[in-house]
Order: sequence, then C-alpha cells, then structure tokens
Amino acid sequence: MILDMAHYSRKPPAHHGLSRRQLLRIGGMTALGGSIACLGSILGYLALDELTDARRPTPSPPPARPTHLKLIDRPPITPRTEWGARAPDHEARNETGFYQDGQAEGWLEYEGDLRAIYRTVVVHHSVIYEIDDPTTMRAIQDEHMDERGWADIGYHFGVGKNGQVFEGRALNARGTHVEGYNSGSVGVVFFGNFEEESPEPGQLTAGLRLINWLALRLELTHLAGHGDFNDFTRCPGRNMAAYMPLLAESALLSLGTDGYRPLPTASPTPES
Ligand SMILES: [Zn+2]
Repeated sequence: MILDMAHYSRKPPAHHGLSRRQLLRIGGMTALGGSIACLGSILGYLALDELTDARRPTPSPPPARPTHLKLIDRPPITPRTEWGARAPDHEARNETGFYQDGQAEGWLEYEGDLRAIYRTVVVHHSVIYEIDDPTTMRAIQDEHMDERGWADIGYHFGVGKNGQVFEGRALNARGTHVEGYNSGSVGVVFFGNFEEESPEPGQLTAGLRLINWLALRLELTHLAGHGDFNDFTRCPGRNMAAYMPLLAESALLSLGTDGYRPLPTASPTPES
C-alpha cells in the first residue's frame, strides 16, 4: 500500500507564529541571498503583522520592531487549469472515497490552519520525462491515476527542467507520495531521473525558491528525500541527494524525517 497508515490520535504541537525559528529563517535567507545570485530577486516585503501570533500575550510596552521584514514572495506557479490537469477521481481503485472513520486512507482534505498540519517537505524525482515540462506534468498525473489507481497526481508541486513550477494536488488535500508518512508532508517532484542525470541549474533555483516559500508559508521544520522515509526507493536519486543539504539549509529546515507527526483525528469527539 502506498497510502498513509498513520493513526490520528493526537493533536500536533502548536508551532505557529513568528517564532525564533522563523526569524532565524528570514535572517538566514537574507544572508544566503548574498551567496546565490538568483535569490536576490526572490526576496520581497511583507508586513510583519501578517505573521504575528495573535495568541501570544502582548508585552507591555511592546518591543520595538521593524515595520517590515524581508520575506519570500510566492513563486510563479502554473495552476492546474493551465497545464491541463484532470479532475480528481474519487472512485479511484486505490484511493477510493473520502476520509472518515473506517476510511483512513480516503481522500483527506485538511481542516483549519495548514501551518498546524504540515511539517516536512518531501523531495522526489519523476524518473520519467516526456517532451517538455507541461507534458511531463500531465504524464505524471496520468501514471498516478491510470496505473497506480490514485484519485489525483500524488505530489503537491512539480518543478520542471526549465524551472516552471506546477500546481499538483491541492495543498489542502493530503498527498500520496511517501508511504506511511503522507499526513503533514508536502510532496515536491523535480522532473528527471537523478540516478542518471543531474538537476538543471534553473530547476534547482526554482525548486529552492518554492521550498523556501513553502517553509515560510507553512512553517515547516524539516526537509527529507522520499528514500529517507521509504528505504525501498532511491528517490530522489543520488544526483539530487547531493543538493539536499543546500535545499534544507537555504530554507533553514532540518534534514531528515524527525519532523513527521501523525494527524489528530478529524472526527468530533462523541457527546456520550
Ligand atoms: Zn519519490
């Protein structure tokens, strides 16, 4: 089975807010910008207030804060409608129906703040490549739906060889890309077979930008390769493995699988 067999028995620890971790990430991104030429264009400005944790008691008097901090803009992402995605099929043989009690592997749409759910970004390679990037994105979806019997493409994002980033499965839906650990894991697939070839420089830059944005937007803690979770696969390939520390460090994420947490139950507690 490929789907997530996690138990949904506990609430994840809260990790919202503009924590020290985030401030470190922002600082780290700023420092890294000097060493990666393309990164300078990534940095934009966003009001600090948008990320302030409302639950945190306000100190009196409030500390002096900069009005704005350098953060990361959302990278350009080709939406499903533009690459010709098929609609999810909820009759799919290996991902049938919707998540509920007794249907733990059904299509799960996360409720509430995604920052409380996502922890880890999981990096994959596609192995296949067809003609160009959009054709490859469609081919991956076809493979997942027609051959593996899933409801939709399993990954949340695709990163093409030419640096085009594609919207995959909706981000508020649990992915199907890392057996046993799908809950709270964002799936990002880089196109290519990195056992045999190396990722393209523009592809790495686009992926780095995407991962940095996801790390900040979702307050992620970890980055892992697919094979770090599932030792039956070499995904994302040895030539991508060489870049994993860079991808993690640039987004101030820890490398590895320790960030995984099962989901809390989605069901309401019975009254009686
Ligand atoms: Zn993989």
